[in-house]
Amino acid sequence: MQTTCCYCGVGCGIVVKQESNGRLTVEGDKQHPSNRGMLCSKGMNLHYTVMDQSDRLLYPQMRLNRSMPMQRVSWDSALDRTAAVFKTFIEKFGPDSVAFYVSGQCLTEEYYLVNKLIKGFIGSNNIDTNSRLCMSSAVVGYKLALGEDSVPVCYDDIEEADLFLVQGANPAWCHPILWRRIEAHKAANPNVKIICIDPRRTDTARSSDLHLPIRPGTDIVLNNAIGRLLIENGDIDLDFITNHADGFTTYHTQVMLRSVEEAAEICGVSVEDIRTVADWIGRSKGFLSLWTMGLNQSVVGVNKNLSLINLHLITGRIGKPGNGPFSLTGQPNAMGGRETGGLANVLPAHRDVTNADHRAEVEAFWNTPVRIADKPGLTATEMFDALNTGTLKAIWIINTNPMVSMPDVNTVEAALKKARFVVVQDVSNRADTVQFADVVLPAAAWLEKEGTMTNAERRIAYLPKVIDAPGEALPDSEIIWRFAQKMGFEANFSYTSVAEVYDEYAKITAGTNIDITGVSHELLKQKRTIQWPFPQGAGSAGQGTKRLFSDNQFYTANGRAQIHALPDENTSEPTDSDFPLVLTTGRIRDQWHTMTKTGRVAKLNQHIPQPFLQIHPDDARIRGIQDEQLVEVRSRRGEVRVKAQISEDVRPGLCFLPMHWGKRLNNNLNRANNVTNALVDPRSKEPDFKFSAVDVVLYRKP
Ligand code: SF4
Repeated sequence: MQTTCCYCGVGCGIVVKQESNGRLTVEGDKQHPSNRGMLCSKGMNLHYTVMDQSDRLLYPQMRLNRSMPMQRVSWDSALDRTAAVFKTFIEKFGPDSVAFYVSGQCLTEEYYLVNKLIKGFIGSNNIDTNSRLCMSSAVVGYKLALGEDSVPVCYDDIEEADLFLVQGANPAWCHPILWRRIEAHKAANPNVKIICIDPRRTDTARSSDLHLPIRPGTDIVLNNAIGRLLIENGDIDLDFITNHADGFTTYHTQVMLRSVEEAAEICGVSVEDIRTVADWIGRSKGFLSLWTMGLNQSVVGVNKNLSLINLHLITGRIGKPGNGPFSLTGQPNAMGGRETGGLANVLPAHRDVTNADHRAEVEAFWNTPVRIADKPGLTATEMFDALNTGTLKAIWIINTNPMVSMPDVNTVEAALKKARFVVVQDVSNRADTVQFADVVLPAAAWLEKEGTMTNAERRIAYLPKVIDAPGEALPDSEIIWRFAQKMGFEANFSYTSVAEVYDEYAKITAGTNIDITGVSHELLKQKRTIQWPFPQGAGSAGQGTKRLFSDNQFYTANGRAQIHALPDENTSEPTDSDFPLVLTTGRIRDQWHTMTKTGRVAKLNQHIPQPFLQIHPDDARIRGIQDEQLVEVRSRRGEVRVKAQISEDVRPGLCFLPMHWGKRLNNNLNRANNVTNALVDPRSKEPDFKFSAVDVVLYRKP
């Protein structure tokens, strides 16, 4: 059976086979346009995560207070109690006393249902997703520059490009199949160049023609300097700027404020390298920029995004084959979730909760018994703050593990202990969050339920149910619609299939920029994948819209792209004599998120079996630290204890911790987020995971 990988946003096609003994095998789907048969190590071992049932949640469980053990209960008992508690809080404290925290691993239909329930029927916008932690700066960047959260390019642009600028991303490890396409294209076309901008010398940097190991937090300074050189070199597209973009004059003034020499000094790279980047952009025919968390996970993440998108707008390199800004997504359905409005500030089809017309459209479509709230709800980090202050009483966590993934995670632990009511809906008890639950709801895993996902190039794929879920585990969609019925909303949540949910969601996109009224489960089964937009009647349009803005008509009110003049200061947590190093966190090749899936697979654990701290030899030497010694990373919030890996792959003054490990090992002390800070970008509310002030000392047993 054909399905889609449930790890990263590349969205590779997979063929799953079940042998007569029930054993599953997976292989890359040669027909799938995204991966053309290739799979990375995580995808190749995906079947083991389903076959290992040892830690699966099999039955609903609940307890009346946290000092009691969990007891197996029926679905009706678990949902009746949850509905009773939610109704009591809503009646007593208002609809904003409850919240849902969901995941970029949820399928589109699941996102749609939770969003509909809380925004349209409970009357609160308190739904946010762990995609807030990885994509929200790109969302705001696209919206400000292009008018909407719309990735303009597609993977086929890789084979049309001759210059790749990879900034704050390590696709060689984190989006391996895309990277293999880039490498194959470069191998066949020696003129193709790759630039990597990253404070770390990653595998991506090692395979690039030019690596700029900039100081953390200086991306805007660098991108402004590149913009200045493009202007000075005459490598801008005046025709595009004049006819299709606003803001160039103020941008021009801004980028001229700093000389290239000064920018090089701030960024810690050579003037010559900055000039080379500008020259290569100027000479290229196809300029594709790719980025992820290095730009997004920043207290100035939106401006970092805009500074890179600006380079495309001043050169007119957008909407043309092989050209455009391309934010890569870390989760399989980060984009699908955003489409359905699964963020605290948006409504389905990229509508806005603060827009009265948009609210009215959605209220009418859903026939809501309450008005949709006109202010954004609590975002991911705000939810846990509100649990700590007591304004939020109940949280329902679906398929995500905030006890490992949130910044300054000790405050999240305190919040979950303080919460009056916690529901955890998940596949296995590997999620560290399960221990804080009052009610645990067992969810069906990948291959055990059907639905759709949208990958990083706007490509919607249908995922069939291949095997039965164990025990009493249910598809997440069914759990949500059953709960909505218990809340008294039977008439609006009386679905009998996931396809019905999808059809309803497709209808609400009518007339919007992401119109998918022509898409259905049935059509997806025939066509395999479709790129949105794909309106009704587009059936003959192959697999949908490959590229946006080919007509230079942007989604802004006046149809013109917006170039932004950007201040270049970084407002991250300052370093000082107590905490003189900058810590950045990130992924390793064979693990994914908090290891609730990949941690089950022996082969994947072999790659890097333990967490580590990468530190530069100069910083290790002055601290008397040798390779493989146990060190303690300390910040203003907590500590982490791991072995040192001394390496020139990080700049002096910078150290790196992988973000995957949780509290199951070493009594919490492997958890990178013990030390990260909770600062967020003021517009995207995305945390500053890439910049925390820390110190590192040799650990000595007390
Ligand atoms: Fe899965 Fe991403 Fe690997 Fe493709 S690149 S197989 S989507 S983890």
